[in-house]
Amino acid sequence: MSFKVQLMLDLDRVRENARSIRARTGVPVIAVVKADAYGLGAVRVMKALTDVVDGFYFFDLDEACSLGVPRFEGKRLIGLHGSKDPARWIRAAVQPVVWTLEQAQRLREARPVLCVDTGQQRFACPIEQAQAVIAAGGIDEVLTHAVRPEQARQLRDAFAGSGIKLHAAGSALLSCPEAWLDAVRPGLALYDGAVQITAQLLEVHRSTGPAGYSGFEVPCFGVIGMGYAQGLRPGPCWVAGQAGRVIEVGMQTAFVEMSPSADPEKTVELLGPHIRQADVARAWGCCEQEVLISLAQRPNPY
Ligand SMILES: *Cc1c(COP(=O)(O)O)cnc(C)c1O
Repeated sequence: MSFKVQLMLDLDRVRENARSIRARTGVPVIAVVKADAYGLGAVRVMKALTDVVDGFYFFDLDEACSLGVPRFEGKRLIGLHGSKDPARWIRAAVQPVVWTLEQAQRLREARPVLCVDTGQQRFACPIEQAQAVIAAGGIDEVLTHAVRPEQARQLRDAFAGSGIKLHAAGSALLSCPEAWLDAVRPGLALYDGAVQITAQLLEVHRSTGPAGYSGFEVPCFGVIGMGYAQGLRPGPCWVAGQAGRVIEVGMQTAFVEMSPSADPEKTVELLGPHIRQADVARAWGCCEQEVLISLAQRPNPY
């Protein structure tokens, strides 16, 4: 009996996603691989993408350094947070994102990228102060963290005709051509449809009455070795070739409703071809990024 949860990442699909984003937008793709590529393993994702994308974006310099980024030299590397020492950025070949005059002055040699605020109001400078920061840092590239088209428009209008490279779009704006500007920075969209998470059925029961912690009542249910510790919450699943439901979750196990006719030798799919991330997000009442990081980060934590 296996308690193991299996996570399969289709790296060809990740490459194909990146290629199709590149083809559709016609602009450079900066792949967002922060948080260990949303829990999927940044090194393997970067290796798979290295000849498909133009650069990689990290949350911070230490994260980039821990992956041994020199192996990815030749790609643009950008990090949001990190050292005040420009030499550390230069050694790692990572460009820092800056948003204050002081950061821009101090990190000038490391070719900083400016982040301007278009509504998110964090890690970004007000557009009115951008010119001063640009001058201080010798900056030729500006980004904003945008999820709405008007934010990308605001960025474009503020720097129109300046010759400065601009990027705004994460996955949420890939279907909005006016947000593509000079590059796109997708995270989630790279991993779309590439992840399959399955768990073994440990037991299958015809119910004898109210079951589980909550006394749920269904004719037939199974138990899987995956619970809160593995990031699971109640929602859709695919059991033994049919639609099922994660009814109740415990610390390391969960009850799943299944048809009495289903083959108990089969596995339970929590994410994959039958169970799409968007459907899970709807059931959980959260965003798709949260579903992915919850399920991908710790499939077998013990
Ligand atoms: C995380 C992040 C992205 C990617 O977001 P997705 O919605 O996952 O595509 C893009 N830009 C910045 C600055 C980010 O921090």
